[in-house]
This record gives sequence, structure tokens and C-alpha cells, in this order.
Amino acid sequence: MSAASESELLATVPDRLFIGGEWVSGSGGGSIDVRDPATGAVLKTIADATPADGLAALDAAVAAADSWAATAPRQRGEILRGAFDLLQERRDDVALLMTLEMGKPLAEAAGEVSYGGEFLRWFSEEAVRISGRYGRNPEGTGQMVVSQRPVGPCYLITPWNFPLAMATRKIAPALAAGCTVVVKPAELTPLTTLYVARLLEEAGLPAGVLNVITTSTSGAVSEPIIADPRLRKLSFTGSTPVGRTLMKQAAQNVLRTSMELGGNAPFVVFGDADLDKAVEGALLAKFRNIGQACTAANRFIVHRSVAAEFSRRVAERVGAMRIGRGTEEGVAIGPLIDDRAVDKADELVQDAVSRGATLVAGGHRVDGPGSFYEPTVVTAVPLDSEILREEIFGPVVSVVEFDDEEEAVRLANDTEYGLVSYVFTENLARGQRMIDKLDTGMMGLNVGVLSNAAAPFGGVKQSGLGREGGLEGIHEYLSTKYTLIPNG
Ligand code: NAP
Repeated sequence: MSAASESELLATVPDRLFIGGEWVSGSGGGSIDVRDPATGAVLKTIADATPADGLAALDAAVAAADSWAATAPRQRGEILRGAFDLLQERRDDVALLMTLEMGKPLAEAAGEVSYGGEFLRWFSEEAVRISGRYGRNPEGTGQMVVSQRPVGPCYLITPWNFPLAMATRKIAPALAAGCTVVVKPAELTPLTTLYVARLLEEAGLPAGVLNVITTSTSGAVSEPIIADPRLRKLSFTGSTPVGRTLMKQAAQNVLRTSMELGGNAPFVVFGDADLDKAVEGALLAKFRNIGQACTAANRFIVHRSVAAEFSRRVAERVGAMRIGRGTEEGVAIGPLIDDRAVDKADELVQDAVSRGATLVAGGHRVDGPGSFYEPTVVTAVPLDSEILREEIFGPVVSVVEFDDEEEAVRLANDTEYGLVSYVFTENLARGQRMIDKLDTGMMGLNVGVLSNAAAPFGGVKQSGLGREGGLEGIHEYLSTKYTLIPNG
């Protein structure tokens, strides 16, 4: 189906809060202007939830909890599957909506519709596979029953960088497990979540099972929800500092938490790598989403024997990338989410250069309107540079060199993060050693993108707790109950 024009599409997006099956104005009467990061223009003005609205959304989720938990798993699955089908029908519109509010090139937004949609389909299938155990206890005195129950009302907080996938990756497993939810998207990109809520409503989701609050005061609105003893689970995707704050708040009621936090992914290229594959992998791992992915390669750790050739080839490709609004044909580099993101990328590049790194491509902001930064390559980056410590979240390749495998592992693991690593080698034994030695929750071996709804996504160390997707994803929303039945 062809996409509607931008204004026609925006007119179909809800502009209110979704609470208890009703689209309602915020109780404070405030509003949020959602802007296009490529132009700065206001796309749509939507309701701004107050703390009272947040609690009203939780009330609705609590009210719907028992009946949703009692709904047949097949029926829960069918609703998710219905939403998946509706999303496929409207995939061009959803892609355009994401490009408008977030800035990513349209082709990438279409890729996110596929990826994000898969969570609806995958968990529609998992809803009917929630299983338990039944067996005799070792003493032979009774039967042990292990069953799974929905955890209860959940609060789901999502970031702006993947407006569809970060929402469906939480909503779909929660609903499949029998939990009701309150979802809070980022203020910068709330439109896709509102659109998805409407799809689920159309697919037959009962009132109160999914509630959406959009707000410009995320801390003030979230705190009372997290402090409410009726909430049973908090799932957050975002930065590590905000994750830490939320974990402290969640500790008060010993709330179940899932935390998908920041990354600082190493991208290791060994001397025996296939350089064609490594360069293609690097472009995907770095420039997808204009570098604004938690899985983005942040540190290119390249063997000295191939570093010059690798950097030359990457710089050549970077030089050919077209910068522009994501809706334009052939654009590879859309805007960053806002001017602060441009400032951060530029500061990190300037810091590395001031310490002695070599700038081989890009390295400048692009004049507005919009928040653009040139795709950039810096090589020979000194180890004390900030760019190796911080998540860049922008289109910047930073290269450091190593001499032997032990040094590569040490450099790769030298971070408090541990989300994903990428390794390029044609030596299978070395690749297997890296699986053991790299401290990350995920690894791509000779590949630059690995996310899949069927795979457990998540990190170790300060990249977070828990897994989303895969067989594991639904367990984040289930609690295990053990029952002993003594012999009669
Ligand atoms: P962020 O600033 O931490 O915000 C994430 C979400 O938390 C937004 O909805 C934000 O709302 C909300 N928030 C901020 N402060 C809050 C508070 N005090 N209480 C409750 N909610 C609060 O992160 P971001 O800039 O949106 O996203 C980028 C970060 O997400 C990066 O670090 C990236 O690595 C990480 N990320 C991780 C994964 C993963 O799976 N591991 C995936 C994607 C992104 P407002 O923005 O409206 O305030």
C-alpha cells in the first residue's frame, strides 16, 4: 500500500492519551509539540500527561488485570497476530511516521517495521507455549507442580531511537503473558506508540489492557506509578544513568525490573578477517539509525596489519554518503535527534583530535535547519579519548589499533558496558575463543547487525538486566509458582 501524504498520515495519528480504552485529553490541559528533527517544524501537537493521568492509566491497567490474565492464551495470541496483520497493511505509513518524528532514512524505517512487527507475530505464537512442570519430589512424598503466572500490571518506558521496535519488544511479550500495561514513550517520538495503540485497539484488545501516556515531565509522571504498590513490573529501555535512577525507585517496592541500557560496542577486526565483509559489517553496525543505536559499533579495534586499508575503505564509503531528510531518495544520513546530540558527537570528535587522533573523513556539523552531523572517521585514537568511553550515538567511526589477540580482548572488554560485540575473523577457532572471552550479552561473528525477534536481546555489566525477544522474552513478564501436593 502506498503511503499517505505526510499531512494525511499525521491527521490519522491520535493526539490524546489512551486510558481505559478511551482517548482522553490530559487533566492538566497541557500539550507537547512533536517536531521533525530534519526541519524543526511541528508535526503534531499532542496531550501532555500529568502525574494524575499516569495514575489513572495505572488504575485502568489494574482494573483490567484479572480478566486479561484469565483470557485464553490463544485469544491473546490472536489479538497480537491481528495487530501484526494490520501493521503489515499499513507498513508504509508506519515507516513514514517514524522517519518524520525520528529522522531515520525511509528504507531503514521500513526495516524497523519488519523487525518491530516481528515481536507481535513472535509473541502471538509464544502466548500459547507458556508451560510448567509436574513431577514427583525426590523424597517420593508428593507431587511438585511448577506453573507460570502473569506478573501483573507493568510500566513500560521506551526511548526515541527505535519508536516502533522498542515498544513492541515490550508490549507484545507482556500482553502474551497476560499482563496489562502502561506505556510511556519518549517525549521526542510518541506518535508511533500512539499509532500502535490504535492498531491494537482495532485488533480487538479489551479496554484497559494497554494504556499510553505521553508526557513532557517523565520523571514526575513516572515516580508515583513506580511507587504504587499495585505496579508489579518496570521494564525500561534507555540510558544507563536513567536506568540507575529507576532501579533505585523500583527498589522501594522490590519491583521486578528489566533494564535495556546503554552500550559501547567493540568492533574487532583481526588481521585474518575478510576485509570486504568487515567493511560492509562496519557500515551497518555504525551507520544504521545514523549511529543512534545501543548496538552501534562504538570502538573499532583493528589489527595493525589491516588498519590503514580498513580505515581507507570505510572513509571512501563514508565520503559517498548522502546527508538529508530521511524522506528523500538515496539519503543515508538523516538528522540526529536534536542539537544536543550534534554537540555531543562534535565534542567527542574534537576531544579525540585534540589528543592526537587523525581526522580522515567528516568531522563537521551541517548548517540547519535540522540537527545534522557529517559521517566521520577518526583513526589512531589515543586510549584516553572520551570517544572510547562514552556512547557516541552519532555517525562517527573511531579506530584504535592492536597487535595481538590478548590485547584485542583487553581493549574490547575495557568498558563498564557489555551489550554487544562484533568480531571479524576467518579463523573459526579464534571466533569461538572470542565467544568465550568477550563480556557482552550478544555477539556478531562476521556480521554487523544481529537483532531478531527470535533471539534473546540484552546485555551484561551496566548494559542492563533481563532479555527481550526469543524464548526468554516472555519470562520477563511471568512469575514462577511452585506448589507441593502431598501424596493422598
Ligand atoms: P533516556 O534519556 O534514558 O530516556 C529513555 C526513556 O526514559 C524516555 O522515555 C525518557 O522520557 C524516559 N525518562 C527519562 N528520564 C526519566 C525519569 N527520571 N523517569 C522516568 N522516565 C524517564 O534515553 P534516550 O536518550 O531516550 O535513549 C538513548 C539511550 O537508550 C542510549 O543510552 C541507548 O543505548 C539506550 N538504548 C538501549 C537499548 C537496549 O536495548 N539496551 C535500546 C535502545 C536504546 P523523556 O525522553 O520523554 O524524558
